[in-house]
Amino acid sequence: IIRLPKPTTTRTMVVANQKGGVGKTTSVVNLAVALAQGGLKILVIDVDPQGNASTALGIAHQEGVSGTYEVMLDGTPLDEVVRPSPDAEGVLVSPATIDLAAAELELVAVESRERRLLTAVDDFLKTHDVDYVFYDCPPSLGLLTVNALVAAKELLVPIQCEYYALEGVSQLMRTINLVSADLNPALRLTTVMLTMFDGRTKLAAQVSDEVRTHFHEQTLNTVIPRSVRVSEAPSYGESVITYDARSVGANAYRAAAEEIARRGTGEEQ
Ligand code: ADP
Ligand code: MG
Repeated sequence: IIRLPKPTTTRTMVVANQKGGVGKTTSVVNLAVALAQGGLKILVIDVDPQGNASTALGIAHQEGVSGTYEVMLDGTPLDEVVRPSPDAEGVLVSPATIDLAAAELELVAVESRERRLLTAVDDFLKTHDVDYVFYDCPPSLGLLTVNALVAAKELLVPIQCEYYALEGVSQLMRTINLVSADLNPALRLTTVMLTMFDGRTKLAAQVSDEVRTHFHEQTLNTVIPRSVRVSEAPSYGESVITYDARSVGANAYRAAAEEIARRGTGEEQ
């Protein structure tokens, strides 16, 4: 295991793409574990009512568990809801329960409705040493995702190597531009990650070329291959990195994490 460089300040990364099933959650979970194994401190905020990131990181999130909902709606300090993942030392998780589904509507009537997460995480970071914060977003561009976009400085977009991949991304970019103009001028697209790459298809190679042309600087060299081990891991409440450390999926996510850590925010160059 390689020790990874500690960023000079906390890096806050929102993992978003309004398309479902592109690998957002899988990427959050595995990057978090890989970076933690590199010696870094990670906070994962599960912002998706499905709670898949919570599950994969081994965190209970049945109704009644306090988590991201209480933080956003009741103003409960993050401190009181985060749980350490049994998967990897150094990963803290704010769980998402199904209650969060209602938050999308309940937030509309709340004061500073777009900044609930930002405020909570800023408070937490005053008293906790965290190197990376990851926000795992639901597949929509509603208030939950907007809160995550407002709370982060970096946007990481996973793109599944398939036909309509770029179409979804242009819609996402329009939202990002609105959010950044209005609510979070600091937000930048720093990282594009190609996921579920199937080397046997011509299409996957075409999409990946297209994405690299479009997002030349942001696209990681590392590509995440489609692999059964990656899709099996969550049902055991694990990341693929702990489930099968030598698998191609685990190797790819470790390489992606290292690339992200070494590239920095892009401001250093
Ligand atoms: P999202 O969070 O964007 O909806 P997920 O990360 O949940 O996407 O992935 C969607 C599905 O694809 C899940 O069942 C997941 O286990 C599976 N999956 C994700 N990445 C891979 C991969 N590299 N290889 C195979 N299956 C994958
Ligand atoms: Mg997800």
